[in-house]
Amino acid sequence: MRQELVELLRSKGISDERVLTAINRIPRHTFMDPAFLGHAYEDKAFQIGEGQTISQPYTVAYMSEWLELESGMRVLEVGTGSGYQACVLAEMGAEVYSIERFKKLHDTSRKQLDLLGYQRIHTFFGDGYAGLPELAPFDRIIITAAAKEIPQALLKQLRPGGIIVLPLGTGDDQLMIKLTKTSGGDFRKEVGDNFRFVPMLPGKVE
Ligand code: SAH
Repeated sequence: MRQELVELLRSKGISDERVLTAINRIPRHTFMDPAFLGHAYEDKAFQIGEGQTISQPYTVAYMSEWLELESGMRVLEVGTGSGYQACVLAEMGAEVYSIERFKKLHDTSRKQLDLLGYQRIHTFFGDGYAGLPELAPFDRIIITAAAKEIPQALLKQLRPGGIIVLPLGTGDDQLMIKLTKTSGGDFRKEVGDNFRFVPMLPGKVE
């Protein structure tokens, strides 16, 4: 089933073999409610509790490819959710730092990541709008919830030459945006496809 998902993603335009290999390796079904077990390798998002979702595999693959990741890079993720996206980045060789605002999702994803042995994924319970200044700068930043505006605190935590990818917008759909920080501290912007994400919200929920 996983192999079929990989072929589907390939047919949808994902060409980075590292992304496809990662998706081929990760047991997505273990990140989901057993009620959805038979659907885990469909290219769909599913509820994970607290009104949140595990992203659609195509979306995960698109963002992972667009990050232009290199092995050994330090990546900040906002929105741990199930932990699945973090695993894809870790499988691609990244050192992942991931923040989640729901305590319950933070706890569940941590257990799951430990079960699978992902010690290179560091998870934090907190508000992603603040990022992790004490661990900055990051080579890459990925926001996996729809941001109304680009969080300025996160731009400061990106190293020169670094890349941030995020879905931007307030409507039902959001445009995927990539910003590359220049050595002078400016940003070069690229616009990608349309996606549908749950909103990025301020504050944390105990
Ligand atoms: N990357 C996740 C996708 C989860 S959906 C996965 O692979 O499963 C987006 C997640 O972002 C939700 O869990 C939501 O609670 C979280 N989120 C939204 N706003 C946030 C914020 N300000 N800080 C941290 N997490 C946030």
